[in-house]
Amino acid sequence: MAALTRLAKPSSFASRSPISYLSRCLYSGVASESSSHAASYPHLGRKPSRVVNDPNNRSVQWVFLGSPGVGKGTYASRLSNLLGVPHIATGDLVREELAASGPLSQQLSEIVNQGKLVSDEIIINLLSKRLEAGEAKGELGFILDGFPRTMRQAEILEGVTDIDLVLNLKLREDVLLEKCLGRRTCGQCGGNFNVASINVKGLNGSPAISMAPLLPPQHCMSKLVTRADDTEEVIKHRIDIYNEKSRPVEEFYRSRGKLLEFDLPGGIPESWPKLLEVLDRDDYMEQQSAAA
Ligand code: ADP
Repeated sequence: MAALTRLAKPSSFASRSPISYLSRCLYSGVASESSSHAASYPHLGRKPSRVVNDPNNRSVQWVFLGSPGVGKGTYASRLSNLLGVPHIATGDLVREELAASGPLSQQLSEIVNQGKLVSDEIIINLLSKRLEAGEAKGELGFILDGFPRTMRQAEILEGVTDIDLVLNLKLREDVLLEKCLGRRTCGQCGGNFNVASINVKGLNGSPAISMAPLLPPQHCMSKLVTRADDTEEVIKHRIDIYNEKSRPVEEFYRSRGKLLEFDLPGGIPESWPKLLEVLDRDDYMEQQSAAA
C-alpha cells in the first residue's frame, strides 16, 4: 500500500487540540519557547521522515509553500481529495472573512488589496477557528496552503505540532505573473479556472514551459470574476513579499529535513502525475488519482 494512503488514518493526537494551544501561544507570547511546547506535547522533537509510516496511524500534516500563482491551491486540493484530509488555505479564510463584511473586513481588504500580509495574530486566529471547527466535525490531519508565510508563523506551528512534509512548489517568476493574471473564479459555483495560455522559452538554464488554459464550462463563462489583488502591480508586490518573508520559511524547513522541492514541469497534465511519483506513487494512488 502506498505510503501516502497509510497516512490518511486517524491522528494519534487529534484529541490534544494542538491548534487551540497554538492560539494561546501566540497571545501569551511563548511562541519562541519551544522547550515549553515540547513539554506540553511529548510527540515534538520526533524527526519524521518525508512520508511517514507512523505506527500510531496519524493523519498527514502537510504544508504547501510557493510563490503566489504557483498552484498551491490546485495541487493541495487534489491531494486533499486523494488522502481524505482537509485542504485549508489561509487565503480562502481571509477571503471568507472579507465576504462576511464583519468588523475585520474593512481592515483586511486594505491589506489584501495592497498585496501585503495580514498580521500573524489575525491569521493564527482565523486558522485556529477553522481547525477547531474541523476538529469538532471529526476532521483529522490537514494540508495547509499559504501558511506558514512568516518565520514567526513557522516557529509557532513547529512549536505545537509535528509537520510531516513541506512541499515547495516552484515556477519561474515570469510564469507566476502570467498565471496570476489569468486566474478566474466562478462567482456562482466557486470553481477556479485560468484563462492564460502560457508558452515561455527556456531561459538561463530553466526549461521552456507550456501550460494550456484551464477554461471554465460554458455555464460559468459569464460569471467569472478576477480577484481584486490579481493586478500586475499587486502580484509583483506579493511575489516580492514572498521572497522577503517566506523564503526564510523554506530554509527553516529545509534545515529540518522536511522540505521537498518540486519544480513544476508544466500544467496539470504534466505536473500532477510527476508530483504523485515524487510523493511515492503506487497502484492504489494511480486508481485514486484518476478520480481526483
Ligand atoms: P497568493 O496567491 O498570494 O498565494 P493567497 O490566496 O494565499 O494568495 O492569500 C491572499 C492574501 O491573504 C495574501 O496576499 C495575504 O494578504 C493574506 N494571507 C493569506 N495567508 C496569509 C498568511 N499565512 N499570513 C499573512 N497573510 C496571509
